[in-house]
Amino acid sequence: MTPMTRALVDAIPMPALLIGPDMRVLAANAGAAQVLGDSGIGGHVARVLRQPAVLEAIEACRSGGARTEAQYIADDAGQDAHFDVTCAQVEGAVLVCLADVSPAMQTDRMRRDFVANVSHELRTPLTALSGFIETLMGPARGDVTATDRFLGIMQGEAARMERLVHDLLSLSRVEAQQRQRPKTLVDLTRVVRGAVDGLCGVAQKAGMQLSAELADTPVWVQGDADQLRQICINLIENGLKYGGQGGRVDVTLGVEAHYAALRGPAAILSVRDDGPGIDPLHIPRLTERFYRIDSHRSRQKGGTGLGLAIVKHVAQRHRGRLIIESQPGKGCEFRVALPWAEAE
Ligand code: ADP
Repeated sequence: MTPMTRALVDAIPMPALLIGPDMRVLAANAGAAQVLGDSGIGGHVARVLRQPAVLEAIEACRSGGARTEAQYIADDAGQDAHFDVTCAQVEGAVLVCLADVSPAMQTDRMRRDFVANVSHELRTPLTALSGFIETLMGPARGDVTATDRFLGIMQGEAARMERLVHDLLSLSRVEAQQRQRPKTLVDLTRVVRGAVDGLCGVAQKAGMQLSAELADTPVWVQGDADQLRQICINLIENGLKYGGQGGRVDVTLGVEAHYAALRGPAAILSVRDDGPGIDPLHIPRLTERFYRIDSHRSRQKGGTGLGLAIVKHVAQRHRGRLIIESQPGKGCEFRVALPWAEAE
C-alpha cells in the first residue's frame, strides 16, 4: 500500500478502513479506530468488525467486485450507534466506510414522538367535545340546565385546544428563527412591567401574591419584544400555577457586569416562587416538549406542556441562557440571562 493510499483513507471524513485481499486491515483512519476501539491494522478484519452481516458484505465485495452495503451497530457508552456500511473495491482491496446515521434516526424518532404527543394532547379535548355534542343532540336535548353546564365545559375544552395550537405555533416560529438574532433594542424593564401588570388579576384570583422589583431605568437588550413578553408570562404563570396555595411569586430584573456564560454583561430576569419546588431529577428534562412532572395537575391548570420549551428556545434565539434552580420544599427560581446591550 502506498503512502498516498494511506493518506486518502485518513482524509475520508467518516470512519473508514481498507481491507486487503487476505481480509487483513491495511489502513484505518482515526474515526474508525474510535468507533471500533482499535484500528486493527495488520490483523484480520473480523478482529475489529465482529458483526457477520458486515463481514459478509466485505467478503461479497472482495470476491464479486460490486459495491455492497450492510448495517453496523456499535455500543457507544451504553447507547447503540447505527452506521450504514458501504464496501467498494479499490485496486483489489476493499474500502469500508461507516456513515453514522444515529443523529438522523434520533431526529426521526423525535419527530414521530412529537406527532404522537400532539395527537394525544388534541384527542382528549376532542373526545370530550364529541361526547358532549352527542349528549346535547340526544338524551340532553331541550334540557336547559344540562345544556348550560355542558356548553361551559365545551368552552373550556375548546380553549384548551386553542392554547395548544397557539403554543405549537409560537414554538415552531421561534425554532424557525433560531439563527436570526433579533436586532431591535428592547427595554426589558418595560416588557417585564407589562407582563406583571397583565397577570395581577390572575394572581389575585389564584390567591397568590405577585410582586416585582424593577429599576426605574431601562434595561436594554437586543430582542423581540413579543417573545420576551412570552418568556415573562410563561415563567410567572408557572409560578402562579405550581407555587404553593396562598404563596408568592417574586420577579426581579437586574444587570450583571460580567456573566461568565455569556462572556459579558447580562440582563438577568428572575422569577421565584415559594411553592413545593422541583425534584432535581426532573430539572434537566423540564424544557422538553410535553414533559410534565404531574400531567394531571398541569392539564387541570390549563398547561400545554410547552411553556418552558418556548422559554428555552426564545432565550437561545436571543443568545441567552435559562437556568432552573430548586430545592424540594423550598420553591424554585427560573432565571433568564440575556446579553445586555448598551443603548446608543
Ligand atoms: P405546563 O404547560 O405543563 O405548565 P411548562 O413547560 O411550562 O408546561 O412546564 C413543564 C412542567 O414543569 C410543568 O408541568 C410542571 O410540572 C413543572 N413546573 C414548571 N414551573 C414550575 C414551578 N414554578 N414549580 C413547580 N413545577 C414547575
